[in-house]
Amino acid sequence: MSENCIFCKIVAGDIPANKLYEDDQLIAFHDIHPAAPVHFMIVPKEHIVSLAEANQRHEQLLGRILLLAPILAKEQGLNDGFRTIINTGKGGGQEVMHLHVHVIGGGGPRAM
Ligand code: AMP
Ligand code: ZN
Repeated sequence: MSENCIFCKIVAGDIPANKLYEDDQLIAFHDIHPAAPVHFMIVPKEHIVSLAEANQRHEQLLGRILLLAPILAKEQGLNDGFRTIINTGKGGGQEVMHLHVHVIGGGGPRAM
């Protein structure tokens, strides 16, 4: 847990989130400012700052995130596809410095 990290606070239950999935390693919740009709993110519970800080130890975790994306997308009604976005670092437009994968869909091919 990293102090002042909003996603760590969601993981800890200190601030609310509209969750759609949770297990011992991962949590998924709807984006507070959705860019399309369906917009949620999958977040590792461990505080990894970004993809640039991930390492070999996170290999299985990163795989689990990507394999979970189509399962949750389908549950959310995205039957004909979705976008996945990972912003990395300031230059990549990352605002919340806790690794997360956006899953977006339902708004046409280029929503967001
Ligand atoms: P990024 O630019 O990839 O770091 O995206 C951060 C995302 O987190 C943005 O789409 C925000 O709308 C979203 N966000 C920020 N705070 C919250 C929150 N408390 N609950 C849900 N989503 C959030
Ligand atoms: Zn964090």
